[in-house]
Amino acid sequence: MVRFTVLASGSKGNSSIVTCESGSSGSTRILIDAGLSCRELFRRMALVNEDPSTLDAILITHEHADHVNGLPVTARKLGIPVYFTEATHRAWVRQVTPQRKITYAQWAEEYAKQKAAAQNADCAIDDCEAPETCGEPTLNSSAPSEIPAEVPDAVVDPARLPAVNYFQPGQPFQIGSVEVSPFTIPHDAADPVGFVFTAQGLRLGLATDLGYMPPNVQAQLRRCDLLMLESNHDLEMLRDGPYPWSVKQRVLSRVGHLSNDATAQYLEETYDGHATWLILAHISESNNHPDLARMAAERALVSKPSLLANRLLLAPQHEPLPPICF
Ligand SMILES: [Zn+2]
Ligand SMILES: [Zn+2]
Repeated sequence: MVRFTVLASGSKGNSSIVTCESGSSGSTRILIDAGLSCRELFRRMALVNEDPSTLDAILITHEHADHVNGLPVTARKLGIPVYFTEATHRAWVRQVTPQRKITYAQWAEEYAKQKAAAQNADCAIDDCEAPETCGEPTLNSSAPSEIPAEVPDAVVDPARLPAVNYFQPGQPFQIGSVEVSPFTIPHDAADPVGFVFTAQGLRLGLATDLGYMPPNVQAQLRRCDLLMLESNHDLEMLRDGPYPWSVKQRVLSRVGHLSNDATAQYLEETYDGHATWLILAHISESNNHPDLARMAAERALVSKPSLLANRLLLAPQHEPLPPICF
């Protein structure tokens, strides 16, 4: 049995679960993105009868806050590995590492101190008979350590995770009984990806947070049994809406988000009509209305089979979507 559950979708947090249960070889459960707090993720999982302690891994699409807000706490609490691309992991680490803000005068003072310390060190090395070993620590050093033995984790390293695994777009890999195929999407993040999950002969495709539908994404999403696609904004609502002009430009750009019209165009002209379930996702609360997203997609799907395929669902922001089971 393969099950797909959207826990949350939208600019206030994104998270989904892919579950593959097979009697003989056990089960695999993967959390895709952790955009809500750990507490809220666990609360929503309880609502759809998913046990957090049975999750095997967390997969991250990209480092934007609405996809990683609850990541460190959730991963540490569950003690499970997190899968990123290397660039996304590095961007996330930079993001969560506190940046010290200092004035120019403070910087100049610290710079002068560092320079003086470096000069002193040079003098010490000059005095040494074996310079190449001068900088190496001695095992029996009696100097007191400046790092306390017990410091809370969060203080030492907010980016600490139980385990980190890197994947590369275009290179499928396996987590338990689920094959994961990551592919590059056009979005303003370090190395954003969408995923196709293959389990028990079924293909589940996820593509949200993308400015347009390039050929590689279209190719990846062929013959999917479930397709979760972004339908972010209504163009008129975005143009007339509350966002500052710069943000509107960003959303509309080739590395922003898919509009209802762009998604509808893909569904009408390119989509193969294969999926049993189509989920419209990342629907903006400020610049879209669920009815507009639904109507645009329904109009685009009129020529596709509708008896056992192309059942349309909208992924909500504030509650989980009931699990979809195959
Ligand atoms: Zn994003
Ligand atoms: Zn997002």
